[in-house]
Formats: sequence, C-alpha cells, structure tokens
Amino acid sequence: MPIEIVTIPCLTDNYAYIIHDKLSNKTTLVDAPDFDPIKKQLDERKWGLDNILITHHHDDHIAGVSNLIEQYNPIVFGAESDKNRLPKLDVGLLDRDKFSASNLIFKCIEVSGHTIGHVAFYCPSEEIVFTGDSLMSLGCGRIFEGTPEQMFRSLNQLKNLPDETIIYSGHEYATQNAKFASTIDPYNPDLVNRAKKIMENVYLQIPNVGSTLIEEKKTNPFLRADQKEIRAVLGLENSSELEVFTVLRKMKDNF
Ligand SMILES: [Zn+2]
Repeated sequence: MPIEIVTIPCLTDNYAYIIHDKLSNKTTLVDAPDFDPIKKQLDERKWGLDNILITHHHDDHIAGVSNLIEQYNPIVFGAESDKNRLPKLDVGLLDRDKFSASNLIFKCIEVSGHTIGHVAFYCPSEEIVFTGDSLMSLGCGRIFEGTPEQMFRSLNQLKNLPDETIIYSGHEYATQNAKFASTIDPYNPDLVNRAKKIMENVYLQIPNVGSTLIEEKKTNPFLRADQKEIRAVLGLENSSELEVFTVLRKMKDNF
C-alpha cells in the first residue's frame, strides 16, 4: 500500500493519526493532542510534517499544534466556520470541500453536535474517515454544543459512507462504550463478539480504533435507533429514530 497510517496514543485516551504517502514522502497529521508523542513518531521514521487537519476546537485535539508549526511549518486545515476558536488556519474548509493532502484527495464533512463546526475528513480512494469526537468505536461523542438532531444528522452522513470505510476516531472509549451498548442491545451476537474482542485488545494494549463502518452499523447503538430489538428494550417501539437516538445519548451521559 502506498500509504501508511500510524495511530498515536496521546494524553490519557486521545488518538492522533499520521498519514504518510510513500511515493511523495508527504505526511499529514489528524489532530494534535500533544506535541511530544507526535514528534517522537515522526522522528523515528525520519518524516517531516506537511499538513495538519483539525477536527474540532477542543484543547485535547489542538494543544500540540503551535509547537508542531514551529518545528515543521505544516499547512493547517480546519473548519472555516470555527476559525475563531481554532489555531490559525492556512486553509478554512466548508462542508463538502475537497482538498489534497499527502497526495490524497480528502473531503470535509461537517459533523456538528459534539461541538459546532466539528468536521470529519473522508478519503474515498483509501476508504478511510477521521471522525474526531463524532462517530466513535461503538459510540459517539457527547453533545456539548449542538442539539441531538444535529448529532443524529451528522452520524447519518457518516452512516451513508461505503460499508468498508475504516473509522478512525479521537479517543479510546471502547471499553465503556461496549459496556453501555451491551445493556441496550444484549442479544446482538455481533455485539457480544465485538465486546469480547475489545476486552482482548485492551489486555494486549491494541487500540480499538480503525473499525469498519459495517461493524459499527451492526453493533454501535447510536447507528441502530431504527432496530426493533433496541426500541423494545427502551420501550420506544413507536418513537421516531431521532427520539430513540436522543434517549440513547441521554442514557449514555448518565451511564
Ligand atoms: Zn472533543
């Protein structure tokens, strides 16, 4: 494969991602929770840093940006609509904008809900998407600034990507997410298997990110508000999908 993706654990439970194109020797970072662990990975591979893509304004996704700019002088991409809360952008992106980084074409998808102005970065040729704190392994981000409706809409946009798309999200929350999902969808055999695999990965210290969209569609309760088994557990057989999603998100907040 001409590209390599490096998953970098940062801070307590954050992930940054490096996307390196071997042909052009160009390197792109998605989110910068911290400077040192990212620099270490770049140095070990003797890579520079050409681009930084920022998913949203929270400190645990941007704290390393200023030091990285000083050291590597990359081009910084982020949501134009949130530019006042982000580090200084070289390229402000609108929903659906396409741009080139690491010799790849990415599409910016607005996925507000966790924050307003949150974006995901989708690369169709590699079938990968970087979702930050929107869609996560077996979960989704907490709704801090948007409405449940916005988050629901954002997740549906991601749900419409091809099934094989690999989801890279901003945190290692899979253990808690699996515990919650198991209370909502206890008889789902795919979820039972996935929860087991997550526990194994945690034991082996393997990140639980890089799931496929089809896996999420089969097991992530936040993408399954249309499923009658989940509706039955919640006693919401006749509610809309948005109502079911809203209840699920509230339950998870208090889980
Ligand atoms: Zn966040």
